[in-house]
Amino acid sequence: MRRLPVRPEIAAAEPYGAPHPDVPNRLNVNENPYPPPPEVVESVLARVRQAVAGANRYPDRDFAELREALARYLAAESGAVDLTADGVWAANGSNEVMLQIMLAFGGPKRVCASFDPSYSMYPEYARDTHTAWQPGKREADFTLDPAHAIGHIDRVGPTVVLLDSPNNPTGVVTPLADVEALARHTAGKAVLVVDEAYAEFRDARTPSAVSLVAKYPHVAVSRTMSKAFAFAGARLGYLAADPELIRCLRTVRLPYHLSALTQAAALGALEHATLMLSRVDELRERRDRLAAALVAMGLRVAPSEANFVLFGRFGDRRAVFARLLAAGVITREVGPEGWLRVSVGTEAETLAFLRALALTREELE
Ligand SMILES: *Cc1c(COP(=O)(O)O)cnc(C)c1O
Repeated sequence: MRRLPVRPEIAAAEPYGAPHPDVPNRLNVNENPYPPPPEVVESVLARVRQAVAGANRYPDRDFAELREALARYLAAESGAVDLTADGVWAANGSNEVMLQIMLAFGGPKRVCASFDPSYSMYPEYARDTHTAWQPGKREADFTLDPAHAIGHIDRVGPTVVLLDSPNNPTGVVTPLADVEALARHTAGKAVLVVDEAYAEFRDARTPSAVSLVAKYPHVAVSRTMSKAFAFAGARLGYLAADPELIRCLRTVRLPYHLSALTQAAALGALEHATLMLSRVDELRERRDRLAAALVAMGLRVAPSEANFVLFGRFGDRRAVFARLLAAGVITREVGPEGWLRVSVGTEAETLAFLRALALTREELE
């Protein structure tokens, strides 16, 4: 390694990724535990077959058909009825969409701000694009105080602000009025990215920020098929924004970044959006029962509108994590010291987790 001219900030870093040992109960990366139904598998295969048959040609660089389908889905899901295909963009996961944002709007001598705790990939986008990383803070209850957020933005002067709502790792939603206050404050200075990776799990009364896009040309709302949509393996993330903002992303994307196979698979899944999302209500109810069970055990739980729960506090969270793992349940050591995050799995996985946690606490006390 010493002989490679690697950037020092890369040389010192570990490649990102949750550990994924082969354990029976994988509750560490917020996947939907239910695979796509067989009808969807057939639809996807039919489309992928066609794409493979034409794979001597490069794919549609601007994936018009997929953007059309994503716009239709997102307009219906978010209530932003005026959303059209030219206001939607996509890439291989919303991670790639957000990296493209950083390529276009971050860079040397520029600042990216967010509010901790937040998604652990954000500082990596900043590092990889030579953008200074300046996180502000959430309150002790993990909500975002808009006055603090605005003060922080004024202090550090970002060109990109990343706000995940529901937030990872807490599941806490930022009310739309507060997001809009940030939108007003950042107009003309920064791009405000609202990362709604978990939006489909939010409460029925919680509005999506997609409705802000028509009013604020510097607001982008990022979504993904990786979580509620049960399609993490296909790698498809997308974003709603003003066509002018999307033009900037088209400038920095790699040529033909979205393969014909990915486009075909995503179209096949979107055709069956209702089926793909058919377990979301069940997961949401299980999340609420899981949170109540943790509270009944005397633990603290962050109020989650996602498909995971942050719980604590433990004097030694690493010991709890390790004992759960030894019992066949993998959770995630993220968020502030003393807390752990667990994804909502199947009923059996969730019970296995609760049983293992009860035993762990008996042993450690
Ligand atoms: C999981 C997650 C994503 C989604 O990543 P993909 O690249 O679309 O799989 C984005 N943002 C947050 C906060 C997440 O937790």
